[in-house]
Amino acid sequence: MPQDSSMTSGRLGEPVSIRDLTERLPGVIFQFHRGLDGHMHFPYMAGSGTDLPGIDRKALGQNARHMLDRLDSEDYPRLMAAIERSARWRIPIATKFRLRLPNGRSRWVALRAQPEDAGTGVLWHGLMIDITEQMIEEARLRRLSDTDDLTGLANRRKLMARLNEEISKCDRHGTPLSLMLLDLDHFKRINDTWGHLQGDQVLVELAKLCRQMLRTEDTIGRLGGEEFAVVLPLTPAVRSFPLAERLRQSIAEQDFGIAPGQVTVSIGVAEYRLGEPRDSLIERADQNLYAAKHQGRNRVIR
Ligand code: GH3
Ligand code: MG
Ligand code: MG
Repeated sequence: MPQDSSMTSGRLGEPVSIRDLTERLPGVIFQFHRGLDGHMHFPYMAGSGTDLPGIDRKALGQNARHMLDRLDSEDYPRLMAAIERSARWRIPIATKFRLRLPNGRSRWVALRAQPEDAGTGVLWHGLMIDITEQMIEEARLRRLSDTDDLTGLANRRKLMARLNEEISKCDRHGTPLSLMLLDLDHFKRINDTWGHLQGDQVLVELAKLCRQMLRTEDTIGRLGGEEFAVVLPLTPAVRSFPLAERLRQSIAEQDFGIAPGQVTVSIGVAEYRLGEPRDSLIERADQNLYAAKHQGRNRVIR
């Protein structure tokens, strides 16, 4: 039997058509057309990944809206801008977006497409692949790299990133910001008396207590050892100081599985001064912490 040029080999010895092949791809290949009047549709679409619930492939052949309407509201303007850039400069699109499913969940889709002049508008040739699993894994790794193992709080890296973000917001909007540095008092003694494991447990419970007392927009992180820092957005020192005082008192009253009154902390508070470098803010909070230690510990200095 003569071999059709549109045939290719599927399972050994069993020829399948290109169409059969593309339908089995673990993704979608497509043509996407944007007419001079702005109308968008998919003249061609093939691949198994198109079987997203609630998205009808035939309808997409008429109007791309059926898919675009399903885009996550954050991703929609980004994709539209990518299409616009690609059309204007004839550069490839490489982006990703979330598609909302009818069950309230969403899937991440990666898209790559090459534009071409079609006379009737712009025609893209491209592919889409479901990358939900990779995105979940990426988020898990990011969380891991941002988190302190022992306490589950933000680690130093994450905390500094948050501080940088909040400082640039302050510089833009002139809003207040406070930083708290907190260090356990005589923690060496606690380890020596109760053991290192019990010391670890104190750190874990202290982290929990602090988190309960802070607002969700505040970030508490473990800088290392028995030192913690709290970034308090929209908070001037007149507000962060009494909060630090309440925190100090609650900790002093808490029974950390040893005996109440055994665990105390010293806290240094500083309010951001517009335009000052980040390290200068940290330095001022640290000086206040040092002063709190020097003046007898279990106290807050601003
Ligand atoms: P000060 O009041 O001056 O802060 O006294 P301190 O004993 O807390 O200060 P110092 O910095 O001399 O000692 C800190 C101790 O914290 C030493 C170390 O054994 C202990 N430590 C640091 N990280 C951990 C940890 O992850 N787990 C436990 N259990 N102990 C830790
Ligand atoms: Mg200490
Ligand atoms: Mg210390």
